[in-house]
Amino acid sequence: MNDTVSVMTVRGPVAGADLGFTLPHEHVYCTLRHADYRYDVADQFADEDVMAAEVMAFADLGGDTIFELSVPDNGRSPKRLRTLSERTGVHIVMGCGWYRGNYYLPEERIDRRSADVLAEELIREITDGVGETGIRPGVIGEIGSEKDWVSPAEERVLRAVARAHKATGLAIGALHAVGPVAPEQLTILEEEGADMTRVAVAHCDAYPHLGYLLGLIERGVYIMFDNCGQYRGMGQFENRILDLILELVDRRLEDRLMLSHDVCKLGQLREHGGTGFVYLSETFLPALSGKGVPDDVITTITHHNPRRWLTGT
Ligand SMILES: [Zn+2]
Repeated sequence: MNDTVSVMTVRGPVAGADLGFTLPHEHVYCTLRHADYRYDVADQFADEDVMAAEVMAFADLGGDTIFELSVPDNGRSPKRLRTLSERTGVHIVMGCGWYRGNYYLPEERIDRRSADVLAEELIREITDGVGETGIRPGVIGEIGSEKDWVSPAEERVLRAVARAHKATGLAIGALHAVGPVAPEQLTILEEEGADMTRVAVAHCDAYPHLGYLLGLIERGVYIMFDNCGQYRGMGQFENRILDLILELVDRRLEDRLMLSHDVCKLGQLREHGGTGFVYLSETFLPALSGKGVPDDVITTITHHNPRRWLTGT
């Protein structure tokens, strides 16, 4: 498959033009607590009625598509995603791959298989679907690193991901990093010959330094501010992120930006007092408008960039 015009969703291919308002980095069904160091209330409830209501709230405010970047390491649920998409009408693009060091499952044997063998597994899944479900991933990710360096196992995964991307045409993201490790991740992808215009770096709000972000953009990738709603309201930190976005828009770099919530924990759901999948619609995008960002620039960020990242067009 090297179809760069349509996007594979959990209900089958959808024309890129139909993706509409997209959240490019979210999790609907997701488990995190099996990682050795996690003791927080990190899992999302598996309650399908609750999740349908959360997704419908996004749809009711004009939302069309969610990129669900869970992988088997953190609880990907292909059939339940398809059911949810059928029930809500929201397009869901499913991820694939391996998350990051502490989450790799023993049975995945990342440290005992070559990058080529791992890539073959991904290519098979992208081509034929997950197991017997026929449900095919539409993007590779979420892939990442635990710390400010890339571990040997994480490097192997990045090489496998790049090879699967080259064989299938699927985009790569969202590269998980909470420190300045993205340049090292990108170097590995470049060594493998990945198309850097099809790569997105996640969590850029976790290292909000203009020079660092400009350096990433220079390498051709998208950058994501995907923790929107996790700053505990429009306080000082969120205003700093807004100012960074304004600075990038001033430099006419809006075609490199994406925004999302990375909903992955129970407390982020509206059901439990969080801001769910609607913080962008209700609060963050109006704040950008209020700072003078024109509607067409916002549409570039919320509609066009996720489509271009996944389709290459
Ligand atoms: Zn995520």
